[in-house]
Amino acid sequence: MSRFWSDIVHRLTPYVPGEQPALAHPVKLNTNENPYPPSPRVVEAIRRELGDTGDALRKYPDPTAHALRATVAAHHGLRIDQVFAGNGSDEVLAHVFQALLKHDKPIRFPDITYSFYPVYAQLYGVDFDAIALGDEFAIDIDDYRAPGGPVLLPNPNAPTGRALTLAEIEALLKANPDAPVVIDEAYVDFGAKSAVKLIDRHPNLLVVQTVSKSRALAGMRVGFAFGDAALIEALMRVKDSFNSYPLDRLALAAAIAAYEDDAYFRASCAKVIASRERLTGELKALGFDIVPSAANFVFARHPAHDAATLAASLREKEIFVRHFRLPRIDQHLRISIGTDAECDALLGALKPLIA
Ligand SMILES: *Cc1c(COP(=O)(O)O)cnc(C)c1O
Repeated sequence: MSRFWSDIVHRLTPYVPGEQPALAHPVKLNTNENPYPPSPRVVEAIRRELGDTGDALRKYPDPTAHALRATVAAHHGLRIDQVFAGNGSDEVLAHVFQALLKHDKPIRFPDITYSFYPVYAQLYGVDFDAIALGDEFAIDIDDYRAPGGPVLLPNPNAPTGRALTLAEIEALLKANPDAPVVIDEAYVDFGAKSAVKLIDRHPNLLVVQTVSKSRALAGMRVGFAFGDAALIEALMRVKDSFNSYPLDRLALAAAIAAYEDDAYFRASCAKVIASRERLTGELKALGFDIVPSAANFVFARHPAHDAATLAASLREKEIFVRHFRLPRIDQHLRISIGTDAECDALLGALKPLIA
């Protein structure tokens, strides 16, 4: 603490990301990273951009990320002016709070959801109502039908993994024509349906995506927002008042290559989904209750074992899972889907702890 701190800094409660352990070979199932590397074409593209001398790095990157936005727009059947790119979807979401979510009425998001949302709300002075999830952590669209402030939902939700149907999202959009509705699709590629195809019919819809999870590029920091051109223009105005060059040259080259290798992407997602189904079955056999997941993680609770104790015991074996000390979910573990070998290491370590 220092007398030089501004008022807001005193009041902030910053987000705490999952641990990045300084170990040679941890079994890292705590931050929902992809267990498989990105497409080989991504590595080639980065090498090509770098060249032998790194000469390209002398120059600033394209402030508009035009080539990347064109590639991703084509991938989703959108126009380029319907695509915004930022330094990870966390940065995109921060701009969304500032550009689109601060209105007279508080924004609405679930009580159990991505824990960065209340952090951005605090940073930007946006009031919010946390709406309680129902039984089994389901989002009930009826809770968001009454006209009110902006709505922000991850689909699938984190850390529960539960997905909404496209019909539910469309009902939500129709019930809230006068408020922005933001769908955070960080995990959509692992089993939910994207709302991108609803954009042309709903000028209040903004969809946020990332290359961090399904395209295995968490280390490059690239995220997107898709929506009506007027919404995208609002994000551009904030970006150009904050940082002209949020995406560096290597990140731009990497992300373009990731979208160009769709076959690799789909095969990688299919492997993660298959491992999720297997891990779900094996954890159930050990007595865990598992929330049905459409994401690259499962949300698990054992009726006879304290979650924090389990997480600590696994950590001693260099196996990292995520435990949140929060109301309603402090007896759950969020376990990212690893390779089959990593899932087996987890199961092998859990068996003696459960017995
Ligand atoms: C991981 C995650 C993000 C952030 O992803 P980045 O693009 O790596 O910043 C956003 N929303 C949710 C729900 C996430 O789980």
